[in-house]
Amino acid sequence: MENNTRIGVFFCNCNGKITEKVDFEPIASEVKKLPKVEYVRESQNLCAHLEGELICKEITKNQLNRIVVVGCASAKEEGFFKEVLNKAGLNSHLLSMVNLREECCAVHEKSAKSAAKALELTKMGIARANNLEEVSFGEIPVNRTVLVIGGGLAGLETALETAARGFKVILIEKEDKLGGRLARVNSIIGVDHNPADLLEEKVKAVTSNPTIDVRTNTKLGDLDGNIGGFTAWFVKDGVETSVEVGAIVAATGVQTIFCPVKYGLGIADNVIGQMKLERLLADGKDFTHKRISIVIGKGTEAFNLPFVIAVKNALLLRKKFNATVNVFYTNIKVGGDNWEKMYTDARGAGVNFFKFEDNIEIVANNGEIIVNYEDPFLKGKMPGVFKVIADYIVIPEELVPAEGTDELAKILRLELGPASFFSVDNAHILPEMTSRDGIYLVGSCQSPCFANEVEISAKTVAEEIFQKLDADQVSTELTQPYVDATKCVVCLTCYRCCPHGAITIEHGEQFKNLYFSAAQMNPLACRRCGICASECPGKAIQLPDYTDDQILVQLEAMEVLP
Ligand SMILES: Cc1cc2nc3c(=O)[nH]c(=O)nc-3n(C[C@H](O)[C@H](O)[C@H](O)COP(=O)(O)OP(=O)(O)OC[C@H]3O[C@@H](n4cnc5c(N)ncnc54)[C@H](O)[C@@H]3O)c2cc1C
Ligand code: SF4
Ligand code: SF4
Repeated sequence: MENNTRIGVFFCNCNGKITEKVDFEPIASEVKKLPKVEYVRESQNLCAHLEGELICKEITKNQLNRIVVVGCASAKEEGFFKEVLNKAGLNSHLLSMVNLREECCAVHEKSAKSAAKALELTKMGIARANNLEEVSFGEIPVNRTVLVIGGGLAGLETALETAARGFKVILIEKEDKLGGRLARVNSIIGVDHNPADLLEEKVKAVTSNPTIDVRTNTKLGDLDGNIGGFTAWFVKDGVETSVEVGAIVAATGVQTIFCPVKYGLGIADNVIGQMKLERLLADGKDFTHKRISIVIGKGTEAFNLPFVIAVKNALLLRKKFNATVNVFYTNIKVGGDNWEKMYTDARGAGVNFFKFEDNIEIVANNGEIIVNYEDPFLKGKMPGVFKVIADYIVIPEELVPAEGTDELAKILRLELGPASFFSVDNAHILPEMTSRDGIYLVGSCQSPCFANEVEISAKTVAEEIFQKLDADQVSTELTQPYVDATKCVVCLTCYRCCPHGAITIEHGEQFKNLYFSAAQMNPLACRRCGICASECPGKAIQLPDYTDDQILVQLEAMEVLP
């Protein structure tokens, strides 16, 4: 604590809302008696522009170097007062906010007890102010190369979008060519291009772009570092190479698992999945006047994609080949632009939709496929098993993450979510964001998605990377936790418990302990949750603005209420 600490306490009655419940006068007269409190003032509306200017003047006139605002404490108002401190030439972290509005007025009636609580909260805020420390800004060098993992539509779009914003891109693909799953799809709903043309156009744009370095037959073997400064190790033909990148985008997609045994069927030319059907249609197979049964819904209910693809292909088979198409479903999900219309169009065109519950039996018999099912809607009126005969059966495939996703998740230090796809951090803020800043998800690797969704996602991620890394250096407040190396025993507790992968163990003579090593928190990756500080068994970690001392002095300032 500095000896020349001079505290200014500014009460705000929030246009009378606070003083309706709490009298400031007795609190102010108590506060004036506290050591280091040099200035006290009450105002009607402290967050008004003119009041801000007045606070600035009082800071200079009274040589104040710690400010306590007693009133509310919303993030918006806190931002306003921090700016005021900056304008007055003070570090914005020398501000302590006391929230009487929510913690006192909103929850208590006017009484002696609530007045005592208001005084206590104010004293705690002043005690904290006494212990506040300045926080500085740091210039963090960042790498402006983006690594994209996966060369399907999502990876291609992301590479093009990030390159268009001036970044160097390295695109790795584990197979020997680019294109991914869409290369095997016949048509794209809502997009005029056929998938082959669309992919050809994208692949050409990527491979001819001098700022995009494409590496096929390549996988990520290991990763170190954080946003702005990752080191990635690639493995190609058993040989390892390393590169430095600033951000990473996973675009590893899905795979389909075709398992006819699940439906009591064996392998046969007329037993297919949607992926195979797409392939046959793309290759020009003739289905004229064929009888085709399509089963959807069993085991695929988690995603929209299987429903929409089934309806798309049912309509196409009916319209193009005048086929007899019967769709067996447990549920139909068509919640998206124009999908409902596609469903009604399919019904209008003569596609039959039959609902079943769990009671469906599929039998292959002399080249024909027989579907036996019970219709739950007709149970009362026409009970019994219905039999539908077809030339082809299209059974649902399981949609699962690309092979090796769990291994990649470990390397990237990311969690897997429902159905083992990559987990997003907060779907409401940015659905492409992971728990680690600087690592993003585009396309089907977080959940099977449609081609038109990929474009929006790729643009969003490219823009996010641009916002974060569009300079060789990024200026940031150094409010990440700091470690007292003399207390750090390199137990790795913090490294393991940080939910955002923001901690590394650094080595060097500057770390004065037995191991010449200590945990270090990356200011760009750390989200200031404080978990590491509370978990460290050696009490080696302090979180600026919430140090142990700052919390303890507030507890000491508390008096036990009668
Ligand atoms: C049967 C079916 C029909 C479809 N029909 C439509 C439709 O009509 N309309 C529509 O909009 N969408 C449709 N889709 C969805 C469409 O295919 C996807 O939106 C599109 O392919 C985008 O996928 P992606 O790039 O995310 O993944 P993918 O296409 O799966 O590409 C992922 C790429 O990443 C590579 N990869 C995987 N793991 C690694 C790794 N560890 N390292 C390096 N590379 C890796 C893979 O080899 C692959 O090239 C359909 C999908 C299926 C399965
Ligand atoms: S938890 Fe504490 S003692 Fe353990 S590595 Fe982290 S800082 Fe060091
Ligand atoms: S404060 Fe939270 S995000 Fe930051 S290093 Fe500690 S645990 Fe990780």
